[in-house]
Amino acid sequence: MTIAHRKFDTLIIGAGGGGLRAALQLARAEAHVAVVSKVFPTRSHTVAAQGGVNAALANVLPDNWHWHMFDTVKGSDYLGDQDAIEYMCRAAPRIVYELEHFGVPFSRLDNGKIYQRPFGGQSRDFGGEQVARTCAAADRTGHAILHSLYQQNIKSRTHFFDEYFAVDLLKDDEGNILGALVFDIASGEPMIIEAKTTLIATGGAGQLFRTNTNALINTGDGIAMALRAGIPVQDMEFFQFHPTGIAGKGMLISEGTRGEGGYLVNGEGERFMERYAPRAKDLASRDVVSRAIAIELREGRGCGPEKDHVLLKVDHVGEEVIRKRLPGIRDLSMTFAHIDPIDAPIPVAPTAHYTMGGIPTNRFGQVVTPLDTAPEEPVPGLYAAGECACVSVHGANRLGGNSLLDILVFGRAAANHIIDHLKHNRHHRPLNQASVDQAMARLERWDRTDGSETVDGLRSELQQAMETYCGVFRTEEVLREGLEKVSELEQRMDQVALHDHSRVFNTARVEAMELENLMGLALATVSSALARTESRGAHSRIDYPDRDDVNWMKHSLYFHDDRQVDYKPVRLKPVSVDSFPPKERVY
Ligand SMILES: Cc1cc2nc3c(=O)[nH]c(=O)nc-3n(C[C@H](O)[C@H](O)[C@H](O)COP(=O)(O)OP(=O)(O)OC[C@H]3O[C@@H](n4cnc5c(N)ncnc54)[C@H](O)[C@@H]3O)c2cc1C
Repeated sequence: MTIAHRKFDTLIIGAGGGGLRAALQLARAEAHVAVVSKVFPTRSHTVAAQGGVNAALANVLPDNWHWHMFDTVKGSDYLGDQDAIEYMCRAAPRIVYELEHFGVPFSRLDNGKIYQRPFGGQSRDFGGEQVARTCAAADRTGHAILHSLYQQNIKSRTHFFDEYFAVDLLKDDEGNILGALVFDIASGEPMIIEAKTTLIATGGAGQLFRTNTNALINTGDGIAMALRAGIPVQDMEFFQFHPTGIAGKGMLISEGTRGEGGYLVNGEGERFMERYAPRAKDLASRDVVSRAIAIELREGRGCGPEKDHVLLKVDHVGEEVIRKRLPGIRDLSMTFAHIDPIDAPIPVAPTAHYTMGGIPTNRFGQVVTPLDTAPEEPVPGLYAAGECACVSVHGANRLGGNSLLDILVFGRAAANHIIDHLKHNRHHRPLNQASVDQAMARLERWDRTDGSETVDGLRSELQQAMETYCGVFRTEEVLREGLEKVSELEQRMDQVALHDHSRVFNTARVEAMELENLMGLALATVSSALARTESRGAHSRIDYPDRDDVNWMKHSLYFHDDRQVDYKPVRLKPVSVDSFPPKERVY
């Protein structure tokens, strides 16, 4: 069979905020750039981001990038790489003004400046009073950003392959990444996209868990592709549970709701966050608030007949604020909880939200992997940015409003590095047929008909297992059971057969490959969680309740081939300021 074949300077896999910001930079520099997305670009999960994007603009309260850097390092529970955090926080104001010029309709203050709301874990003077650092377009910030970036890309003539699914990276024997095998979902036809540089921007893997805030498409495909290409994945044990998902459903109620003055109450009507975080209260960082809710529920102080949720009260901020600043939250709440927050509190519980781990990169977006000679060597031709990457600016826990920032800052940084790389690497390297054959085999495997398992069945079991064995609180015993369960599910993948073998718009085949990707990441997550015998950020071990800076100030690296976990040091040294040494984390 002859396979369709295209060549570009750069292939970007993923059309969320990270992919589109990079594409725009490249297209404007007149690089020949292709963007592949398994959904129409403006359906990427970035569209769902609600609360806003952080930048120390100081439009409402005094602020500066150095305080933002401190908050991010502290929020990361000191596992974030401080060179990357410094870079991100310094770049933030410029990134937000750029967005404004791209056409993002930010909410405004009376003086015309960009509106900023308080978010979790933000402080002035390195741990002092709350500031307001999150720039918002009502509670639909991601929607505004994604649509503006898409329009700018159309104007700059970025080449889009909409509804194409990337199967695997292509590489040569020397380890150079040369593009990817993709297929057109509409026709089912495969295509090779050759590229001098490839950027993975495929977003997170929230579909690992049953109750989550993520789009159905967030199956961590790019992270799994990197794993299969021999690149270890970093810090996968750190998965963020957002404190306020709609109870029993999981959809997100933005932290912006608490930023606008909302607060949590338990079944006894108590404002319990005062006990857990006396100063920051409901605006402590997410890991802290999620654990507090989990403890309230475990100790029987939940609400409702099952005592399985708490309440988020926001009616007291008034109808006008809710209508103007939180219209999306009101919609979600009325649709999924049948409650109008203007009149009554919203039932909420922690829900899986954000993948802190991912493909290891440096602050230029280059994918890095350990070699004998160095802990971090760039993989030639390969970049990653956005939620799929682990730079790592979020370390063990991400602060709200820092992900939209991360995807834009490092999407842009990766593009700048690529532009430079292209100046010195003008030619395509020869493609390796073995690599194409291997990727094709993965695609064609789904034409087989024998087997008794279904994709649906295995996916539900996997999501349930991850929730049961790898949730907010973890222990060795539970994680061991989890690892056994996930390994068994992975083996059962061999028995999966599809009933539909048509080519045209065969979503069953897409879902099968997504499940395969999730399986790989579930193993990485549980294995890394089992190995880390301390509690840090979102990784909370009941059997090891303390943070252990002597033994565990290091990033986990999980390798697919031998299924082992190894480690590399945290980059503690910023570029131009002093580092923030670890200290006790209180809010
Ligand atoms: C409900 C919700 C609210 C949030 N609110 C905020 C907020 O207020 N502030 C904040 O900072 N962060 C927020 N976040 C987090 C933030 O929105 C995300 O981390 C971020 O938008 C991810 O962007 P991305 O570009 O990395 O990926 P995404 O936007 O997820 O895009 C991924 C892209 O990859 C493509 N793709 C994936 N796999 C394949 C494949 N195999 N083949 C082809 N294409 C593929 C998809 O089609 C898509 O285009 C929120 C997240 C959620 C879920």
